[in-house]
Amino acid sequence: RNLRKMMECRSDINRLNNHFLLIYESLTPPGEEKTRQKQLLTLLERLVNKEWPEARLYLYGSCANSFGVCKSDIDVCLAIQDAEIDKSKLLVKLADILKSDNLQNVQPLVHARVPIVKFMDPVTGVSCDICINNVLAVINTKLLRDYAQIDVRLRQLAYIVKHWAKSRRVNETYQGTLSSYAYVLMCIHFLQQRRPAILPCLQEIEPTYSVTVDGIECAYFDQVEKLQDYGSRNKETIAQLVWAFFNYWAYRHDYTNSVISVRTGCLLSKQAKDWTRRIGNDRHLICIEDPFDTKHDLGRVVDKSSIKVLREEFERAAAIMQHDPSPWITLFEPY
Ligand code: ATP
Ligand code: MG
Repeated sequence: RNLRKMMECRSDINRLNNHFLLIYESLTPPGEEKTRQKQLLTLLERLVNKEWPEARLYLYGSCANSFGVCKSDIDVCLAIQDAEIDKSKLLVKLADILKSDNLQNVQPLVHARVPIVKFMDPVTGVSCDICINNVLAVINTKLLRDYAQIDVRLRQLAYIVKHWAKSRRVNETYQGTLSSYAYVLMCIHFLQQRRPAILPCLQEIEPTYSVTVDGIECAYFDQVEKLQDYGSRNKETIAQLVWAFFNYWAYRHDYTNSVISVRTGCLLSKQAKDWTRRIGNDRHLICIEDPFDTKHDLGRVVDKSSIKVLREEFERAAAIMQHDPSPWITLFEPY
């Protein structure tokens, strides 16, 4: 039965291609959205620098990593060098500043895993989260953006996977499913593994970019304009890749022994990472190594019940990609 499930791709797969490309295009944000985001960032810089002239603001997450679909929130990191700072106090202070400038729904969430202030700008309609000194997120945002410039199929695949994950409600870390960041890493790893490869492994090439953040050395080859033709020997279309992505996570991935690793471009063993048993809340039921913070398994939020949900969703998606007459609709039917 398993062999049958791992069968060859349907013969009419390329008939689906235009449908998936249309979905990709419909999810792509219009240029004016970038303009509105920049406008809000300029306003924030003015407010923040009045109080903390040394502080800098950086965009991170989907508004800056090129995997943002229409109407995404924006994620901002406030970088401030002050050994004395108490993050909670700073967030509360920042919240007061935002409120006095008439920004709406301002909420400091000081007890969250990553403490933030949330708010909405009534002028641009953009919602925003601000965190403090989460510089590693700014760096991994750059890594994702650099990968996206190498081959357009990464962006196409990641948009479709994120749209599927949101529609099927498996993009909710507080419920034990995976973050958007984890899904994008799954897509990058998958494209590194195609033969011929569609993406290189940037951290395995002689670095042209290097910074040390929180004691972690982040180094990789970032002259991606030199890699424009990298994937051109591989002619797979987006429909074939969506099929193969779900087929991989439904039937081929070895959940018991393997860790996916964008850093090395390979699969690693759980044994080698010592991710074989539960420690505290980390269960390692699906293992996705963070490319810089290599002790961090992005799958650690997944528990015994959510792994079941996830794997059933991968199998559903794989079956739809194999048999359904209109997978570009069925795949995204709301859960
Ligand atoms: P969405 O479009 O769903 O908002 P997003 O790209 O903004 O997607 P999030 O999962 O909201 O993705 O994460 C925002 C950013 O925060 C990521 O790009 C990444 O830089 C960082 N990040 C998120 N989760 C983690 C994590 N578990 N470990 C390290 N960094 C993370
Ligand atoms: Mg986000």
